[in-house]
Amino acid sequence: MIGHPGGIKSSLEARCNRILVDMEGALTARDRVGIQDFVLLDSYTSESAFLDNLRKRFHENLIYTYIGTLLVSVNPYKELGIYTKKQMDIYMGVNFFELPPHIYALSDNAYRTMLMENNNHVILISGESGAGKTESSKKILQFYAVSCPRTSLLDNVRDRLLLSNPVLEAFGNAKTLKNDNSSRFGKYMDIQFDFQGEAVGGHILSYLLEKSRVVHQNHGERNFHIFYQLVEGAEDGLLRWLGLERNCQLYRYLVQGQCAKVSSISDKTDWRTVRKALSVIEISEHLFGVIASVLHLGNIRFEADARGYATLNSSTEMHWLSKLLGVHVQVLREGLTHRKIEARAEEVLSPLTAEHAIYARDALAKAIYGRTFAWLVNKTNESLANKDSTRKTVIGLLDIYGFEVFHVNSFEQFCINYCNEKLQQLFIQLTLKSEQEEYEAEGIEWEAVPFFNNKIICDLVEEKHRGIISVLDEECLRPGEASDLTFLEKLEEKLGGHPHFVTHKLADQKTRKTLERGDFRLLHYAGEVTYCVVGFLDKNNDLLYKNIKDVSLGFLQVATQFKSSLAGLTEILMSKEPWYVRCLKPNNSKQSGCFDDVLVRHQVKYLGLMEHLRVRRAGFAYRRRFEVFLQRYKALCPDTWPHWKGKPADGVQRLVIHLGYRPDEYKMGRTKIFIRHPRTLFATEDAFEM
Ligand code: ATP
Ligand code: MG
Repeated sequence: MIGHPGGIKSSLEARCNRILVDMEGALTARDRVGIQDFVLLDSYTSESAFLDNLRKRFHENLIYTYIGTLLVSVNPYKELGIYTKKQMDIYMGVNFFELPPHIYALSDNAYRTMLMENNNHVILISGESGAGKTESSKKILQFYAVSCPRTSLLDNVRDRLLLSNPVLEAFGNAKTLKNDNSSRFGKYMDIQFDFQGEAVGGHILSYLLEKSRVVHQNHGERNFHIFYQLVEGAEDGLLRWLGLERNCQLYRYLVQGQCAKVSSISDKTDWRTVRKALSVIEISEHLFGVIASVLHLGNIRFEADARGYATLNSSTEMHWLSKLLGVHVQVLREGLTHRKIEARAEEVLSPLTAEHAIYARDALAKAIYGRTFAWLVNKTNESLANKDSTRKTVIGLLDIYGFEVFHVNSFEQFCINYCNEKLQQLFIQLTLKSEQEEYEAEGIEWEAVPFFNNKIICDLVEEKHRGIISVLDEECLRPGEASDLTFLEKLEEKLGGHPHFVTHKLADQKTRKTLERGDFRLLHYAGEVTYCVVGFLDKNNDLLYKNIKDVSLGFLQVATQFKSSLAGLTEILMSKEPWYVRCLKPNNSKQSGCFDDVLVRHQVKYLGLMEHLRVRRAGFAYRRRFEVFLQRYKALCPDTWPHWKGKPADGVQRLVIHLGYRPDEYKMGRTKIFIRHPRTLFATEDAFEM
């Protein structure tokens, strides 16, 4: 009767598990391992008690803790051996609170609810860069691909679902100062399930890849993994075919960060994984030709002639570029040293200065890579597509680049941090705000929990006409006149009074920390970030030396495009039932066993975990419209079975009294029943099995 394929594990089995856990619990005193659900913490309003619990568990390698159904995860920075097939089997089909907290428990719970209620879900994974979002999303995907029932012959779909990960990571992740495998694009993935609960397909949406990394990396950072994998790992024959040498030091685009080799990364091994994955997804080797062409492009040098115009002598690189891209050398040469302009209705070629030619070369490299990445996502989607037209339900997985602050922050950090700001806003809306509004609307007595609403910062960035993105777009439409500095001046003019915006003129008054000219500071929900405006206009325009006329109405600048794709993403997320994984970073040195109190406390604060706990603790974990609740459980009470003729609310009341719910376990709202703790509901679910 319960939606899980083959039914929920028998109560007997579930209880055995529970006994095992209890035994384990008895052996490992509570004092040592802490409490597995913060809702049960005695001093639940104390931040220190929250932190103590987290720290205790972390030192016992217990990285997961619940706040109700929300999962808090602390990055252990070491392999824990808790992601085996055996562990998956233990968690599959067992009620949420019967086993120690685990990402598999959350995955399983979302999965079972999806099957039971036949609706769509989404797991939102958040946390700052290096906190463990991508690892979490991989564990969830593995759980679904490996553990879910296999009723058809769709093994290859599951393989492809799993293998899409190393491919997109190779092309979209890179070593940064925060994380050796940092996601440099946002990823939303739908996993589709058929009515039997089998994973039968998938679809990926990608968001704003950090293309600037292709041509420039800061000290201690690398380009995207795939370049190093190719150079280090490719077979001799393939390298020869691509005109490459097995030495990263020879390629300008690979050495700017001065760390082509990283001890934690094995490019050779990763190459083999990616290579195999690409062949399963059926992506041809021609892809490597395009990747190699970017490396050749980076090695092209220009010299200035007597008039300062660019001349080009890199004949070897030009030869390979021409071969790999299938473009005639002369056309390439012209494209790299001249730009087309329209004069009196005809097109003429105007020579570029050496400096502009470098810009054109880099722009071309970024464009090639960006388009290749988009193509790769499309191809992956084709290979994951399920052609069968029967209705599927989905579980979405959101894994984006985390909030980041570097010594110098640019347009990329601005976009990434804005994206995190939007997700925090969504979290607030769905958990803190709407939850409390719902109690009010349903007439449930409630003492409001105050929280910081970051909408003010989202508005500061995205508001029409006066938000930062609008001001940036306006400046981008004044080519020749506008510059990064005029953009900053406009910001000062329009946003000078905003409590979350600071420039050097205002720095002393607001934060007491001085700012350089050319910088502005945003007081984000997760902390202060100082942005350097240099390059904002260029990056927002993302010009491939277009004719200036192309930059006219209808052309969307990068930040605006990103803003609208985030609005689309928010809609997708809002249409599904959300589950949350909040990832925390225990220290800034990527070390295992080290729990930095100040750092973790800061994350607990800005992620709003204390407020969430307060709302959870005082609130209700589960709510359903009377009709839905009655429909599902009416068989458990002779008065409501097979049909209840009266008002749904009265039927629900009769039902829960018959089931023996205590008055403090539930509340009747105007249209819904609210149940305080999931355990109550699990007991009701178990009643089906008796
Ligand atoms: P970004 O925002 O930069 O993409 P992220 O939150 O996705 O960061 P991850 O790449 O998931 O961070 O994690 C960083 C590193 O931390 C991983 O490469 C891995 O070494 C380690 N790590 C994270 N989660 C776990 C885990 N559950 N078990 C073991 N190691 C982990
Ligand atoms: Mg990541």
